[in-house]
Amino acid sequence: MTNPLYPWQENAWLQLQQLRGRLPHAILFHGAGGIGKSAFAERFGQSLLCQTPAADGQPCGQCPSCGWFEQYGHPDYRRVRPEVLDDEDADDGEEPGDTGESKKSAKAPSKDIKIDQIRALADFMNISTHRQGMRVIVLYPAEALNTIAANALLKTLEEPPPHTIFLLVSNSVDRLLPTILSRCRKFALSMPPREQALEWLREQQVDDADAWLAEQGGAPLAAQEQARSGTRETMDEFLRHLAQPSIDGALKIADKLQKTPVPELVSWLQRWQYDIFSHKLSGTIRYYPRYRTALTALAGRVQVCALLEALKAANERRAIAEHPLSTKLFIEDMLLDYSRFFS
Ligand SMILES: [Zn+2]
Repeated sequence: MTNPLYPWQENAWLQLQQLRGRLPHAILFHGAGGIGKSAFAERFGQSLLCQTPAADGQPCGQCPSCGWFEQYGHPDYRRVRPEVLDDEDADDGEEPGDTGESKKSAKAPSKDIKIDQIRALADFMNISTHRQGMRVIVLYPAEALNTIAANALLKTLEEPPPHTIFLLVSNSVDRLLPTILSRCRKFALSMPPREQALEWLREQQVDDADAWLAEQGGAPLAAQEQARSGTRETMDEFLRHLAQPSIDGALKIADKLQKTPVPELVSWLQRWQYDIFSHKLSGTIRYYPRYRTALTALAGRVQVCALLEALKAANERRAIAEHPLSTKLFIEDMLLDYSRFFS
């Protein structure tokens, strides 16, 4: 079953319907992570294939097309995403890190969208479509395209096959090739209003919804996932270290946190530093209000220019966090660098 729209997506959905009259070859849905962009794109894909969509463009959910779509078996539909996402869907609840780390990555599912996946689309686009309808390809996250795959996709976007639409989804447009960006009609999806997000989280029975939502910068699906994954303790241990940075502590905690996904650690650090920065400039704290005292103290110890440098360093780390050569060294280096700013 595909997700119906999330409550905060209704306006965006109506706005999207205006494109139906003259569909572009490619639409890029972009916005913050954890707000339901890929579900939105898939829903739109379903509605383009639906034989009897409703007046507001919603797929009927009843016709054969919708039936195939919901089982990912529609002959004119392809979904392209990294293996790792298929894995998450398949063994929901199992710890992906448990088996991977130590045995080396030979069998670890890929986090990239690979060239083979793009090549496979060529065959798909050569076959004529069912009932002379459209062909829909949903691809996410677009920043997972490795360079070779991105270039192959670009070729297709430059000479788009008829009756074919690409729906791309991205959390970070700045990591996409500018040439790909220029071939797509951009469609922004914004962060839901806080109240609406909170209400939804409560409906999903997320306890402590307020704190989770703040920690995820207002992104409700990210908040739900964090709440479910039970990483609260790890996160608090990490934040307690950031509150009292020391070289000793950095080495200890790097050793302890080797199994935590590195991109997650980097985003915690990014948010933390952002909070210090924003507290210094305007006295506001966005992500970790629980740590106000510590954040205030740190803000008093650091210069704005040093903070900007720290933010930049964390940003650069985020870009390589998916594939660290050594997890432990990566964390150590990151934390030693951080403590340097407060020494
Ligand atoms: Zn239908």
